[in-house]
Amino acid sequence: MTLTPVQLTRPASVTDALLRQLVERVPGTGATWQLTEVYTGEVLVALPQSAPADIEAAYATARAAQRQWAATPVRERLAVFRRAHTLFVDNARTTADLIQVESGKNRRMAIEETCDPPMVMSHYLKRAAKLLAPVKRGGPVPMLTTSTEIRQPKGVVGIIAPWNFPFATGISDAIPALMAGNAVVLKPDNKTALSPLHGVRMLEEAGLPKGLFQVVCGEGPDVGPTLIDNADYVMFTGSTATGRVIGERAGRNLIGCCLELGGKNPMIVLEDADLAETVQGAVFGAFGNTGQICMHIERIYVPESRYDEFRDAFVAAAKALDVRAAYDFGPEMGSLVSVDHLGRVRSHVDDAVAKGATVLCGGRPRPDLGPAFFEPTVLEGVTKDMLCGVTETFGPVVALHRYRTVDEAVALANDTDYGLNASVWGGNLDAARAVAARIESGNVNINDILATAYAAKGTPSGGVKNSGVGARHGDQGLLKYTDVQNMAVLKKQVMGAKPGEDYGKHVERMLSGLKMMRRTRIR
Ligand code: NAD
Repeated sequence: MTLTPVQLTRPASVTDALLRQLVERVPGTGATWQLTEVYTGEVLVALPQSAPADIEAAYATARAAQRQWAATPVRERLAVFRRAHTLFVDNARTTADLIQVESGKNRRMAIEETCDPPMVMSHYLKRAAKLLAPVKRGGPVPMLTTSTEIRQPKGVVGIIAPWNFPFATGISDAIPALMAGNAVVLKPDNKTALSPLHGVRMLEEAGLPKGLFQVVCGEGPDVGPTLIDNADYVMFTGSTATGRVIGERAGRNLIGCCLELGGKNPMIVLEDADLAETVQGAVFGAFGNTGQICMHIERIYVPESRYDEFRDAFVAAAKALDVRAAYDFGPEMGSLVSVDHLGRVRSHVDDAVAKGATVLCGGRPRPDLGPAFFEPTVLEGVTKDMLCGVTETFGPVVALHRYRTVDEAVALANDTDYGLNASVWGGNLDAARAVAARIESGNVNINDILATAYAAKGTPSGGVKNSGVGARHGDQGLLKYTDVQNMAVLKKQVMGAKPGEDYGKHVERMLSGLKMMRRTRIR
């Protein structure tokens, strides 16, 4: 296969000077990694690789800055994010340029990704002060005791982020950690380190103390152990396989972790679903971000009675997609992230075809469009003995299945080790809700693919089964970065037997006191 280099002009904002300024932030002692522009394969910049000693030094700097930050009043900490919100929105186009050059996604997805950190900031700007305020609770003896729940920052949070939404996962997950008084050491994927580095730069411009947010780079297995061993908490987003490695190490160190992992997400089309809307939704679900969204759709279940009309309309829509490399809003689908990842996606399709699946459209790499382009692909006849029948493909590949009854559709949707996201489409919302409630999944969207759930920043979003542990967003998305200190006060020495008191009498008094408090609902 010969690769035809794509003739493209790099976005004007992505200058060599900007690239140099960004990577200068990464500590390293010589070794570098060639970060490339995905559409052309051209080297953009040499990214420093952090050795264990660099990572330890980054933690030491972050830890020193964190002590002062934790002592800064919450309202002053939050003021930084109020300013950052404006900066992030004003710089959205440059951020999208960086996201696009490093990930190869189309511009529509890149600009949408830039909106995630401001949305997270907005939510926690409203909620953080309340969540972090001490909560006075009653002690065991009314009036004479108090217990106060105090939220202390964990210390330094290690964040490990993937390449598919590098800016959102690298920066958005850091925001509640920082608001809560922590420092952060972030390890982005080597391929997509530019946009998170740009995010850290904007946060510092908004007033985040220097040193508080460190970025280290390297291949996961090289830097992971030192990163985790120095952290007080780990926030990981990535594959289920890597999540297990991270979880095991965090467990050994007795630190908490949140694991946001992969999915094999189903979409169920009900009898009364609107065809045009459902097809449009399915196109985004299967091919949005070139199929590289953890919550995207890889399995679609359609009732037998509507299967043919859905299949024909969906395949026609997939074939009509505008797929190409461009730094404008034209293309509806961009590239995969790398030639390596293209190999994985292709191997899933080849394996399915070899085992009897039918390709309804797509199924081939497109080197004429760029080194890592793959066609939007719709398969039929996918079974569980095929790679793409059971494991996440993470590309623009989706399988269509027929079902006879709703019970069968629910059983098929649940027949997976994953449980990250699901999508149910139907005209009768009550009926759709009843189906959605039966799906084993951390997120279920009705008449949408994922945006309604993911953009609802007030509700926790996470995976069940092999799709994760813990959640981001909602109150727990901030509280997980804190430890509770139970500060208890005894105002008068009333606990236990008085000196010289008969112990039997004391026990009687204590037991009747328990009954009295229950009756009067004091305790
Ligand atoms: P990955 O697990 O290969 O890598 C994720 C990150 O972990 C990268 O920064 C990588 O360098 C690092 N890493 C790899 N091995 C490591 C190790 N041994 N120790 C420490 N760090 C290590 O995943 P990926 O291919 O980059 O990302 C795609 C996966 O992420 C998909 O499975 C996708 O579903 C998942 N994902 C999940 C969510 C979610 O919120 N649930 C969001 C985005 C992506």
